[in-house]
Amino acid sequence: MAIERTLSIIKPDAVAKNVIGQIYSRFESNGLKIVAAQMKQLSRADAEGFYAAHKERGFFKDLVDFMVSGPVMIQVLEGENAVLKNRELMGATDPKKADKGTIRADFADSIDANAVHGSDAVEAAKVEIAYFFGA
Ligand code: UDP
Repeated sequence: MAIERTLSIIKPDAVAKNVIGQIYSRFESNGLKIVAAQMKQLSRADAEGFYAAHKERGFFKDLVDFMVSGPVMIQVLEGENAVLKNRELMGATDPKKADKGTIRADFADSIDANAVHGSDAVEAAKVEIAYFFGA
């Protein structure tokens, strides 16, 4: 089993719902260690740069509006198969399709306001961690 790092963001909807601690508890009880963290109010440039891969998609402007609507909690998670493990804990992008007991099933309201981000691959995680935490 590989020890990996992945980037996680608790999005503005979940920060506003006061569930940072409950989400952290899921990470920790599933073997993911929080090795760096920062609360941040993203600028539009921060959000646009982070989601640059989606800039041609119809939902891009709404996504950026949402991501700057309040502070986010950004963390680096470390553990065995951290990238996949975090994606499993998060559940599907659309909370209506997310498995029971996942973070999105329990804390998200819609596909736009879906509580958390998690890197989808080890290479993406490296880029995303560097984006917020530097080398
Ligand atoms: N998103 C959206 N509408 C869509 C698809 C995606 O608002 O129809 C947003 C949603 O917040 C999602 C983010 O864009 O989390 C990135 O999309 P991606 O497909 O990468 O999903 P994720 O990796 O977050 O599950």
